[in-house]
Amino acid sequence: MNAPLPVEVLKQHLIDPEICIRCNTCEETCPVDAITHDSNNYVVDPEICNGCMACVPPCPTGSIDNWRLVVRAEAYSVQDQLGWEELPQEKPLPLDAAAGGEGGQATPAPQAEAGPAQAAAVTAATPGAAVPPWSAAHPYVNLYTHKTPITATVVGNYRVTGADTESDIHHIVLDFGEQPFPVLEGQSIGILPPGVDAQGRPHHARQYSLASPRDGERAGYNNLSLTVKRVTQDHGGAAAHGVCSNYLCDLAKNDTVQVIGPFGHTFLMPNHPQANLIMICTGTGSAPMRAMTERSRRLIGTADIGKLMLFFGARTERELPYFGPLMKLPRDFIDINLALSREPGQPKRYVQDLIRERAAHVRGLLADRNTCIYVCGLKGMEVGVLDALRDVVVQSGEDWSILHDVLRREGRLHFETY
Ligand code: NAP
Repeated sequence: MNAPLPVEVLKQHLIDPEICIRCNTCEETCPVDAITHDSNNYVVDPEICNGCMACVPPCPTGSIDNWRLVVRAEAYSVQDQLGWEELPQEKPLPLDAAAGGEGGQATPAPQAEAGPAQAAAVTAATPGAAVPPWSAAHPYVNLYTHKTPITATVVGNYRVTGADTESDIHHIVLDFGEQPFPVLEGQSIGILPPGVDAQGRPHHARQYSLASPRDGERAGYNNLSLTVKRVTQDHGGAAAHGVCSNYLCDLAKNDTVQVIGPFGHTFLMPNHPQANLIMICTGTGSAPMRAMTERSRRLIGTADIGKLMLFFGARTERELPYFGPLMKLPRDFIDINLALSREPGQPKRYVQDLIRERAAHVRGLLADRNTCIYVCGLKGMEVGVLDALRDVVVQSGEDWSILHDVLRREGRLHFETY
């Protein structure tokens, strides 16, 4: 008669607002649409989240991987979480709930403890791998956070697209002096633009991929480079002022910048000799491809390097960042394929068209277990690139879904698209 009422305990999934860089990866990945955001935070709806963990591996910062045991009836609501500046402290559970006895009910298990059906859902939700290539070096992440940023000095800032074109893309070099900032090709950093947003809060960090290799934009220097496009329009073509891109593109030599990171633990290049790279990018998505290409170029003559194949999409030659230096690379070092979509007098071409045109070479590389594929740039290219890879494989009588799974499991297919 006097037995305690059942207390249902929830292992609630939360995102750490102090580490999150608001890159939207989790919201795009979540297979059940449990993640949402406003101008302040990315948050998880406890009513929808099933703990499937699909969003955890792709998160570049690890801010997604936070959990609190709460009484289900007292779970933090979406509204609570949107207002947070930091995660709440753990609260003690009622004794009967914490002991799991007398009416305490089982917590919905997150994926790490779940069965094969949920594991399959995770795999299907992400087109790329959740693990790095086996031979990738170990990355450092989150060494510097919103609360403890590092100050870098601008040592270079110049435009890498034709002066008369709409695409104002800058190559920006940041120096860290004697402060440690270890990075790998494929990682990204966050830039904290000065000033406040419309609500009077400091701006959130904006994420940029490194365009330079691990040993520096200038080999042996503690510096790195970014590829930044000045944003003057939104995706629909309406006038818009990109807060961070305009700030970065307008920086002068010797200005200082607040940096957080580094981020990313899967989109990393293989380190073993004879590893081949297929690099597929559009616009400023070329940044990590430049980093990997330059890393490989610096290894010429010091180790056996594998094949490099690049598919690079841009509107015109003059809007393709780094066109000049790219074309000077030896043809026996890198196989370059340019897809120009708005070059006057030429048919519109996308990277996926060129992948199909070069099917025999792509197939040959895919057949080699030393090959890793990297895709970076516009979100819209993801489906087109996957379709093109599938067509190439199917043409040769193979099963794409089997190879796709192998590529993901072995950390050989990576996406970074926005
Ligand atoms: P963009 O100039 O708008 O487009 C580059 C090329 O991609 C154009 O030729 C464009 O053709 C083509 N394209 C458009 N839709 C496509 C699709 N569905 N499939 C294949 N190609 C397509 O590119 P951007 O403004 O530089 O944008 C680059 C993207 O990379 C941004 O979303 C950015 O956030 C992302 N990114 C940047 C960094 C960085 O560090 N800066 C890192 C990672 C990712 P049209 O003529 O049809 O437009």
